Amino acid sequence: MDELAQRLRTEGFRLTKEREALLKLFHELHRIVTPAEMHEIAEEQGVSIGLTTVYRLFEALTKIGAAVPFLVEGTIYYAYCDPQHHHHVICMSCHRLTEVKGCPTYDGLPANWDVYGHRVDWFGMCPNCKDASQAH
Ligand SMILES: [Zn+2]
Ligand SMILES: [Zn+2]
Ligand SMILES: [Zn+2]
Repeated sequence: MDELAQRLRTEGFRLTKEREALLKLFHELHRIVTPAEMHEIAEEQGVSIGLTTVYRLFEALTKIGAAVPFLVEGTIYYAYCDPQHHHHVICMSCHRLTEVKGCPTYDGLPANWDVYGHRVDWFGMCPNCKDASQAH
């Protein structure tokens, strides 16, 4: 967390006590959230912080590679992201996110390209939501 605080400072985002609490909540979510949803969760947990600060935190985290934005049905969501290379599988119903290690193949890429990286995310339905939808 100290190193993260240091890197956030280079983006001009200083971690106060409340902001650190917000960051901790975000880290522990394991789901994708909109800034408005994150703001609501923070309020429920007694962390009083402005919506603008949530936006600024997400922006700063994204810049330093500690958060990833996802465009889902026209809305931007964010998830906390560890620095090691990985992928995600995301439930379209409850927005829960699970990390996936291991990479897909590069089969099917056009010839003669130098490729430096890739981003792969899967969207679907988690076991909990599947059970719930099959229960009746
Ligand atoms: Zn991630
Ligand atoms: Zn789900
Ligand atoms: Zn990969």
